[in-house]
Amino acid sequence: MPEMLALEQARDLVLSKVHKLDVETVSVLDAAGRVAAADLTSDIDVAPFAHSAMDGFALRTEQLVAACPDAPVKLRVIAEVAAGDVFEGVIAEGECVRIMTGASLPADADSVVKYEIVGVVEGDGLPGSIVSFDAPTKLGSNVRAAGEEAQAGDVVVKKGEVINCAGVGFLASCGIVEVPVYRRPNVAIISIGSELVDPTVVPTPGKIRNSNSYALAASARAAGAKVTILPLVKDDLEALKDEICGATKRFDFIVTSGGASDGDFDFIKPAVEQLGELYMTLVNIRPGKAQTFGLVHDVPVFGLPGNPAAAYVGFELLIRPALRKMQGYSIFERPHVMARLATDAKKKDPRRIYLRSTLSKDDEGYVVTPAQNQSSGLFGVLQRSNCLAVLPEGGSGRSAGSVVECILLDVPEEVCL
Ligand code: AMP
Ligand code: MG
Repeated sequence: MPEMLALEQARDLVLSKVHKLDVETVSVLDAAGRVAAADLTSDIDVAPFAHSAMDGFALRTEQLVAACPDAPVKLRVIAEVAAGDVFEGVIAEGECVRIMTGASLPADADSVVKYEIVGVVEGDGLPGSIVSFDAPTKLGSNVRAAGEEAQAGDVVVKKGEVINCAGVGFLASCGIVEVPVYRRPNVAIISIGSELVDPTVVPTPGKIRNSNSYALAASARAAGAKVTILPLVKDDLEALKDEICGATKRFDFIVTSGGASDGDFDFIKPAVEQLGELYMTLVNIRPGKAQTFGLVHDVPVFGLPGNPAAAYVGFELLIRPALRKMQGYSIFERPHVMARLATDAKKKDPRRIYLRSTLSKDDEGYVVTPAQNQSSGLFGVLQRSNCLAVLPEGGSGRSAGSVVECILLDVPEEVCL
């Protein structure tokens, strides 16, 4: 096991140990945001029949070939067809049919002339009236063809595609009311630390509230997972091993925070090592180089550092991609943009640094302002940030005006910027 991994190595390692989960069937409404686990085919043509895109008059294009303002063509309205109805009669020479938006195009018609440009010569435009046209019309004008969007038997959503809200409607129009998608991972969140108390409790001296479990659970949920916050575990190796062992029987992925360094009471590394395979303990990033990963009973166990911002950044960079892979997504990188640093980033640390920052735009493009306080103990700074500005390894390119990559938080991977 190499001592310190680059972020990319660490991410590849984690991704290599997780796999797409099995398939479940959900109702089409619940398929928004999920990944189709099979090619989905329409049972009918969409649209099922040729229909009018306008309120107007249905006729044959050739009836109006000679129409002009000086010699308008006059036609008798023989019927009216509304949405939901079908006109099964014949449209003879000199006749047309009044038609409403969405109504089936009569078999004898090949175009629709909208109301607004049709003159009424006699009557009120309803059946029995005479209407006049002072210009020709184009074949298929204001007609939506049958099968315009899909034909019966066509694959309308491919395996691996992310279904969006419009896609839910599209699938409904294709008669697909149950959708096979990759299952959401069941994720356990375990916070480790003898100083931790529940948020409902006012901490006594030496204790602090457990905030990580909640931020990590919210992040896992936002990544699509089903989340369970397990009880707090004290800094005790055997207690931690018991909790992890139990969790491997019920969960697809286990996330811990705390006890990840080399302190006298840091036990996540020995716990994973003694229970299963330990693959990683250090990643060359700041905040949070102590990132532990392994498998216990074949279940991925990820030990995040305890400092809130370090835990959050570790989750974003290393756990979120894994949870997405398990759900069948193929893009793992959050959208990012290049932006000018608004101020000097004085950090001397040669590690790659993820600065909690705010991205905005000015006349020259994107500009990013790192938060003043980059302490890894702070969650509030992240609440007020919208991106992580990435300072490259080595220490250069960190002065005001340097162009750096900014990873946008809370924007799904599929968005292209
Ligand atoms: P550790 O990684 O256990 O050394 O913890 C580093 C720092 O993060 C310590 O100040 C801990 O008290 C704090 N910390 C650890 N776990 C949590 C948690 N679940 N919620 C809030 N702070 C935590
Ligand atoms: Mg601790």
